Amino acid sequence: MNYSSWYEKNYPALSGYGLWLRGGEPNTLAPEAFDAAECTILIARLSTYRDTADSFTHKLLYQIAAGIPGVYPDLAWLPPPKDAELFDRDGVPWLLGTTSKHGARDFNLLALSLSIVQELLNIAPLLRRSGIPVPGSERRADAASPLVILGGASALHSSYCFGEESPVDGIFVGDDANTIRELFSLCKAGFAGKRHKRDILEDLLSIPGFFLPGGPIETTVFHAPTAYPGQLLERGPILYDEGTIGTASLTISEGCACFCSFCAESFGRKPYREYEVDLLREAALRLKAAMAVEKLELYSFNFSLHRSFYRLLTALAPLFPAIGLKSQRLDSIAHDPGLLKFLHAVGKASLTCGIEGISPRLRRYLHKSLDERELRRGLFALLTSPIRELKLFLIATGLEEQADYDAFRELLALMTEVLQGSQHRPRIIFSMTILVRFPWTPLEFEDAPPPETCGAVLRTVERLTRAAGFEFRASAEVAEYWLSQILVRIADPRVAEAVAAAGEAIDFIYYREIPFALVEAVRQQFALRGIEADVPLRGHRPDNRAGKPWSGIAIGVKEEFLAAQWESAGRSEDRGYRGTLKPGEDSDAKPSPAEPLSRPLPIMRTEPHPSLERFRGHLSENLARKTAVHFRIWVDPPLGNVPVAMRGTMLARALLMADPALVPEYWGNGGSRVAGAQGWERVTGDDIVSLCWLAPADAAVRLRIGDATFCTSVAGFLGEKLTLIGIVEQALENPAVIVFSSPFPFDPAEFCSRKSLKFTLCKTGPFTADYRLSRDSLRKKVWSGCTVEQGRDARHRVTIVPGPRFSPAEFAQTAFKLPEKSDWVRISMVGRFGE
Ligand code: SF4
Repeated sequence: MNYSSWYEKNYPALSGYGLWLRGGEPNTLAPEAFDAAECTILIARLSTYRDTADSFTHKLLYQIAAGIPGVYPDLAWLPPPKDAELFDRDGVPWLLGTTSKHGARDFNLLALSLSIVQELLNIAPLLRRSGIPVPGSERRADAASPLVILGGASALHSSYCFGEESPVDGIFVGDDANTIRELFSLCKAGFAGKRHKRDILEDLLSIPGFFLPGGPIETTVFHAPTAYPGQLLERGPILYDEGTIGTASLTISEGCACFCSFCAESFGRKPYREYEVDLLREAALRLKAAMAVEKLELYSFNFSLHRSFYRLLTALAPLFPAIGLKSQRLDSIAHDPGLLKFLHAVGKASLTCGIEGISPRLRRYLHKSLDERELRRGLFALLTSPIRELKLFLIATGLEEQADYDAFRELLALMTEVLQGSQHRPRIIFSMTILVRFPWTPLEFEDAPPPETCGAVLRTVERLTRAAGFEFRASAEVAEYWLSQILVRIADPRVAEAVAAAGEAIDFIYYREIPFALVEAVRQQFALRGIEADVPLRGHRPDNRAGKPWSGIAIGVKEEFLAAQWESAGRSEDRGYRGTLKPGEDSDAKPSPAEPLSRPLPIMRTEPHPSLERFRGHLSENLARKTAVHFRIWVDPPLGNVPVAMRGTMLARALLMADPALVPEYWGNGGSRVAGAQGWERVTGDDIVSLCWLAPADAAVRLRIGDATFCTSVAGFLGEKLTLIGIVEQALENPAVIVFSSPFPFDPAEFCSRKSLKFTLCKTGPFTADYRLSRDSLRKKVWSGCTVEQGRDARHRVTIVPGPRFSPAEFAQTAFKLPEKSDWVRISMVGRFGE
């Protein structure tokens, strides 16, 4: 069933006026293609649009699926709480394709992307509220239900979903783009050939990393031995999210070279692989064109460990106005403090590093492979450099003792001392999370401490941190820890049943946090089933591992290695990548910044250090070349509901796609003349957007705009909602008139009373009238003319000659008889420049 008309009727009442459900983002397929497709795939996130906007997994999945002929992909999200009530009221499926407006049942394949384990709790409620039977046997008997496949970053930890009655039909563990393409292609071939879902699932068993949750669970996850271009995001949907428009992620390496014992992401994605610089540069340019990127996020677990990091930075920084770099290891800063100057040169003022354990003993236990000299040297370099903010990650293991707290206090004192001697005062935030011991990491074997113990650690570390004058944040509370820990090591089906029953009993949906009400409900369900509350937190002996449901998923890490790492963790001995750190060897190390560091980094750069001066010079040369070109455009009313930044981004994308030679020198969206002003954001019609270029590319752009073939190509990329009229040399004034077209009657009484405007109503025809302001009111410069006409289409058209103090949004909100407050967004506001 298609829910387009429901959306049209209800979007003003949805969160953000329904923007998240609007669909049709640039780089998505047209909804009309749905019916002609041989296979339709709904890629669904288990969290909301807003919470996942900066993730690129679903964008990459969309890119892969859209690249297979005959496949129509669409995207779906968990509705925000307020919207979910409306969906329920009207019987709308929660999993709704945002572009096609088809419910999940209309699709052949429902691909659920599991980002964090807490989202497992949302699978059953989402299916249930989308008309898809949750128990596997019922779903299999329902020929009209889509095939439900679970994948994503946390799919390795989905034993909650194992069993005959699983809420999913198949599970895929892996992140290899070619394998995912193969999986989607097999589905397409199966659905195009009208094969039974059961047979398609059989076919999918040939895919490495794919298995049926009802068992037998035996598969080997494929990780390509070297990184290759198919993995890279090059043409993802540009979501309607103000904060991410013009931003995209480029993966520079896969996995991590280190072996921190707690790090499920790293163990699940071995081996570490890097992309070559030339390949990345080419992909970055394609991405820049397809998504009009002005800020390129370099995605990796540790960007500074990339063998060719400096070559990469010097290749990419001159192509993008902004480069985003997330997290790096403290030891790479200790070994190469000069790195901070390069980061500073690209404008990176906030840095994030993981210290993890609060003491040397706990860092060894966590196999952080960070000795005291490196830690102190790295912190010294950071605290004496011109950064604005430093975030340090900590982990509460639940094993903290007095000696560990004393070591932490010493570290805080050292940082205070360094800061006192430094001319810089960065904001320092310690962010602590409670350790969840994941399967397929060395800590899988260990008992997890009770939540009360971990909560006490959080509070003590918070107290010490604040007493030292630094900020503290707990990134997750004890309830979140407790349930996550239970979810990841479910081996007893009764535990999964208890958690599911508890969720159902309190009608729970996971929106960023686990409340104590759920903890209580789970405990009650445990009691009903005779499960002691601490049993699901227990680890197991390595020789019992074969009995665990996840042991049949071979991820490329040897079980013996995990067991050996666990044993050395128990001895507080770090047998990390770079040789052994033993108790007593590092704890009394001096913080002297001059002391040599003998241990090598896990990845050593072989290339020479580039010249910082030359690098800086190149960047400032770029800044000096930056110049704006102003484009006059016509914006159709439907674009009035999307973020203003989309106008410039759409135009830039069209220009860059039409002429790739312009791509390197595109330098960002300079904003919108009309809709860029407060209160004018929804005004469509005439507008001017400024796009920045590095000279002499501005001259090339002007030349290209004079070429009819080029303009036809640009129009093709722009689509129907935005039209390029031409280049203007100077920004025009605000529109001479704005026409409000409203399905609701005009009544300016409230607007005029708020502004203390006095008017006279003069009928000028059977369906037309003027609202004339008194002389005093005219001086207020709100408007100088207001004409109203009731059209045959029952719409009320109000033409305003705006003054400098006129706010179109305020006028739409208060000058019409609105059935509901939010209905003002149904009023189109079209501005026209005077010629
Ligand atoms: S350095 Fe450690 S914590 Fe960071 S990604 Fe690598 S293994 Fe994980």
